[in-house]
Amino acid sequence: MEKENKICQSCKNKFTIESDDFAFYEKMKVPAPTFCPDCRSQRRMAWRNERSLYKRKDGLTGEDIISVFSPDKPFAVYGHENWWSDKWDPMDYGQGYDFAKPFFAQFRELMAKVPFLAITNINPSNSEYCSFADGNKDCYLCFAAGYNERGSYMTRVGFCKDSLDLLGCSKNELCYDNVNCNDSYGLYFSQNCKNCTGSYFLYNCRSCNNCIGCV
Ligand SMILES: [Zn+2]
Repeated sequence: MEKENKICQSCKNKFTIESDDFAFYEKMKVPAPTFCPDCRSQRRMAWRNERSLYKRKDGLTGEDIISVFSPDKPFAVYGHENWWSDKWDPMDYGQGYDFAKPFFAQFRELMAKVPFLAITNINPSNSEYCSFADGNKDCYLCFAAGYNERGSYMTRVGFCKDSLDLLGCSKNELCYDNVNCNDSYGLYFSQNCKNCTGSYFLYNCRSCNNCIGCV
């Protein structure tokens, strides 16, 4: 098929479907998209709730838990400990595959039956309000974060201590408001830096000490 210009049914912007794309949809036996690539990407990413946490009941025990699923969601959600326990058997939810029905309809049916893991927060120590997290201690609102201590409001961080408001950082200590900075101590408001100490407003710096506004 020739390439075709379309209007996205969501954002109403124009987008193009190339002839190669049509060949792929043909091969996969799926219809051509009616959403533009950006809107499709948003819909895919909506599957990963990284930073919204809710209080709800554990579907197995009724106790209060923290979850990435809001309480109005109709399916069962089990807290971390119960979900990983032998108190329930995932095999109980097995069902035969019906070749006469579409795959995704059956997948959805199965997905709605099997209990969901409330949140991925492995071995937290006083760090209950963290998600996609592992081994954090005394942390609060840290997401995609591992092995941090006494940190808050951080995303995609690892091995940071006594720090706040970091994005994409590792091994920061006593740091604040950095993006993509590693192995730094007492570094503030900086981006793309490594091994810097006691400095403010740095960009793309390496091994700087006591600097302000360097690039
Ligand atoms: Zn769109």
